[in-house]
Amino acid sequence: MKKKDAEVYRKKLIKEKERLLLDLQNLDKNSLHVTSQEGSGNLSGYGTHLADVATDMYEQEKSLSFMNNEEFLLQEVEDALQKIDKNKYGNCEACGVEISLKRLDVEPHAKFCMDCKTEEEEKKKSSVANGSLQKNIRKRRG
Ligand SMILES: [Zn+2]
Repeated sequence: MKKKDAEVYRKKLIKEKERLLLDLQNLDKNSLHVTSQEGSGNLSGYGTHLADVATDMYEQEKSLSFMNNEEFLLQEVEDALQKIDKNKYGNCEACGVEISLKRLDVEPHAKFCMDCKTEEEEKKKSSVANGSLQKNIRKRRG
């Protein structure tokens, strides 16, 4: 990839990184300040229902998995930025072919070309299928 082009994606990636960091910061704040009602001085409102606790736990779990996802993305973005520094950005990590700019526009942190990504997903699918097939064979043999 031309250096000039790579710089465009570097800017995109830096923006994405900032967004992710901001998201993660906000998530941190939210999970730390669950009892935000305390500042109002109204102590008569105590008496938490179990349903509320369950909802809170559900919400926390949800934001936790969201957080993991964001952290994963952040790692991918940082990897991509490092690849720009090493002039390796824009090439598929599996087959080395240049990833199309169209794809990088949508996913600037993409590591694989569309073909390899599809192949990878097919492999995952078929390995799951093979696993269940082998189990079935073993069952039949006793
Ligand atoms: Zn590839």
